[in-house]
Order: sequence, then C-alpha cells, then structure tokens
Amino acid sequence: MASSPITDVAIIGCGLSGLCVALVLRSYSIPCTIYEKRSTHRQGGSISLFPNSLRILDSLGVYQTIRAHGFPLSTSIIKDESFQTIRTVQVCDEARYGYPLLRIARDAILDVLVAAARERGVEIYFDHRFVSIVPSADDAPPSEPITLTFTNAAPRSAALVVGADGLRSRVRSVTPSFKSADPQYVGQALIAWSVPYAQLRYPVPLSEVPLGMAMIVRRGMVLFVPDDPSGKSVRVAVQLALTHREFLAWKTLGGQRDKLLDILRNGGEQGEKAADWEWPDLVASAIEIAEKDHDSIPIFLWPYFTIPTMETWVAKTDKAVLLGDAAHVFPPTGAQGAGMAIEDAHGLGMALAEAMTGTTDISLALAQWQSWRRQRVQQVTEFSSQVNKSRVALASSGQDRGKAPAEQGFRDDMDWLYGWRSAEQWSLWKQQQEDKS
Ligand SMILES: Cc1cc2nc3c(=O)[nH]c(=O)nc-3n(C[C@H](O)[C@H](O)[C@H](O)COP(=O)(O)OP(=O)(O)OC[C@H]3O[C@@H](n4cnc5c(N)ncnc54)[C@H](O)[C@@H]3O)c2cc1C
Repeated sequence: MASSPITDVAIIGCGLSGLCVALVLRSYSIPCTIYEKRSTHRQGGSISLFPNSLRILDSLGVYQTIRAHGFPLSTSIIKDESFQTIRTVQVCDEARYGYPLLRIARDAILDVLVAAARERGVEIYFDHRFVSIVPSADDAPPSEPITLTFTNAAPRSAALVVGADGLRSRVRSVTPSFKSADPQYVGQALIAWSVPYAQLRYPVPLSEVPLGMAMIVRRGMVLFVPDDPSGKSVRVAVQLALTHREFLAWKTLGGQRDKLLDILRNGGEQGEKAADWEWPDLVASAIEIAEKDHDSIPIFLWPYFTIPTMETWVAKTDKAVLLGDAAHVFPPTGAQGAGMAIEDAHGLGMALAEAMTGTTDISLALAQWQSWRRQRVQQVTEFSSQVNKSRVALASSGQDRGKAPAEQGFRDDMDWLYGWRSAEQWSLWKQQQEDKS
C-alpha cells in the first residue's frame, strides 16, 4: 500500500510505552505528541525492571537518573509460613548483564521520562481522553491525515496514531481490524502497600532479614520488596484469589480502603476469618501498620487481567498501531509487562524512523516490526507461564518443597531475555529475513 510521509505521530497514553516511543521518535527527529486522558502521568505502585529494558532506557539517556531512584536486587529468598528458606533465587546477575534488577516506584520512572520527553520537544496534553479516529483507521485514505477526537478537547490531526493506551485501549476498540475483545479477569488480584522495613515483626533479628522475599502461604503469596533507594521502605504485596467483578466494581473496591483491609485481615472475601487460619505474624504486622497509619499509607488493588492473543497490532491502512498492554498482557509472574512495553516502543521507533528516512516503506516497516516483536512476546509469555507453574507447584508441594521444580529461567541461562540488545537484534532479524527470501 502506498504511504504518506510521517509528519506527526499522535501517541495515545502517557504511560511507559507512550513515553518511550516518544523518546525514540525524537531521537530520529520525528515529530510526535502525547495525549493522556488523566490530568497527571502519575499512576502509583512499584515495578521491577530487568536488564533488557534498562539497557534501552540507557540508550535513551535516562538510565542513570532512573537508577538513582531505585533499589538494585540480585537475589530473592523464598520463605514458607514459618520463615524457613525454601529456596534462594538468583534473580539477575548485574556483573554479567551490565544492569541489575531494579525495584522502583513507577512514578519515579514516569517523572524522569516525562521530563526527558518535554526537554526533547515532545508536547504532552493531559485531560485529553481520546474517543475516535475519523475516518476509521481501517478506512482512511493512505495519503491523508486522520483526525482524532477527544471528549473534552478540540480534534487533532496526525499521520499515524500509536495506541499506547493500556489494557482497555480505546484505539484498539475503535479500530475494527483489531477485533478487540474485552479484557478477562484471571482470578487473582494483588493488594499492595508500603511500610517502614524496620517496623515489621520478623521472627529473626533484623540483621538476618533478607531484602527481597516471597513468602508462600496457604492462600497465595506475599512479596516483601524494597521500593526506595535506601531500602528502608518495603512494599508488601499480597496475591489472593478474589471473585470476579465487572470493571467498575473493581474500581469501586480499589477506593474502599476499609474493605481492602477486611479482605487482608481475613485472607480473602469470606467475610470472617476461617477458624483454622491466620497470617504468619510478619504479614499480620504489615497489615496492622496499614490499619494504624490510615492517612499516610495508601493501599492499592490490582486485579490481574489478560486479553486474547490478537491477530494484528497494525491497522489495515497502517494508520494505527498498538503496543505495550494495548497489544498484549503478560502473566504478572514474569514481571516483564513494562519491559515488553519498553522493548515494543524502542522497536517501533526504529521501524518508523526507517520509514521516515525512506529506507523502507511504512507498510513493510510496520509488518516487519510486528513479526519481529511477536516472536519475542511469544517467548516471554511462555517463560512467564513457566515461572507461574513452578510457583504453583512450590506452593502446593508441602513437605517436599525442596524438591519442587526450580524457577526455570530465573536459575538457568537468561541471556536470551536479559542480554537483549534491541537495535542489534532488529538488524540481525532483518538480515535473517533477507537471507531466507
Ligand atoms: C500489579 C502490577 C504489577 C506489575 N509489576 C510489573 C513489574 O514488576 N515489572 C514489569 O515489567 N511490569 C509490571 N507490570 C506490568 C506493567 O505495569 C505494564 O505492562 C505497563 O505499565 C504497560 O505500560 P503501557 O504504557 O503499555 O500501559 P499503561 O501503563 O497502562 O499506560 C496507558 C496510559 O494510557 C492512558 N489512557 C488510557 N486510555 C486513554 C484514552 N482513551 N485517552 C488518553 N489516554 C488514555 C492511561 O491513563 C495510561 O496513562 C505490573 C502490572 C500490574 C497490574
């Protein structure tokens, strides 16, 4: 299909994927604008980033600033309810990959990315809730710009729209060729809050407490991970099986602190605590701190959703493209959702730059980007599912925990995941395709 020059790229969503694609596009002097429905880029919560995505952030000139806000982890200790170590997991070898596993508040990364994007000439419009593309991205004439409409702002035109608008992507739902399906709840949710590390009741002296722990309990898993550079604050995240709700009901529950505390106290939604069950004292102490510090400790709720595998991430006129959570959602166990969003964004920026400079037609550039990214996304999805299975086996293996399957991949050679060099892999992949044809 003949294509128009990329004069302006509209990016819907000021999350990790939207900001990263903007930075890559600006590094090739491609004009782009971000539209965000909320009045701020801040989202709350904390995440783990691994060398594959940190290397990309380094190439964008923002890694050193981001690292200063995070806490590097090399091992994670898996404990049982009585604080016995089940396993020590080497999560990432900084000496080997040049980057650590970085635990970091999501807002700290977003703050750095927003500042860098503005410095490099990206305009960011908040309070711009994207509604539609006129004409639809499936019907737009190739040589003409499309118009984007917003609920609360004037329409804007662009040559191409990038849907970096997350799990419930509107770009996905208004473009028929994406055949959008509603996100599905997968039966598990995470309730998380931060507490001062030293205030928890550990069953051993503080000097013997590891930074970075997962405690396997009868009702699920509880994570204790540092979430500030000093390691003095620890993020407690309780993963529980909660009942299915409609989207708005999840939103309501997320704002009901007392109900979340009830769920935490009871270890689920059964109304009252089962007579034969109680939290290990360490977890109970974390809940008590959240109960006491009502005003200063926010509690976050994240139900886990997935979307069915999509047939395409590129609209048939090449006028709209999806990336990050708008295109695929990962099981939380691999902690690679943000990593894949950053990888997608970097690859898309490189592909669009090639189309911009005329080395590749835009249809070909987008088709190549998609094939390349699909292979990688598939591989990482399989890895995340494997980690999930081994955790379930570990939780249910009772006395035989020591014999439960190891966390595949975390233990073995991880070069394929952490050693990823996006620009080199992209050139190599294209070369291999050329050799095959
Ligand atoms: C509990 C939890 C823990 C996680 N932990 C990790 C982890 O440790 N490591 C990891 O790699 N990943 C983790 N992830 C996954 C990771 O957070 C996501 O994969 C990543 O944030 C996706 O980024 P994104 O930019 O694609 O989407 P988002 O971060 O969802 O950003 C989308 C943006 O688009 C905006 N938007 C939506 N609709 C519109 C509209 N109509 N108009 C304008 N703007 C719109 C939204 O407001 C938002 O700002 C975790 C996820 C969860 C839920």
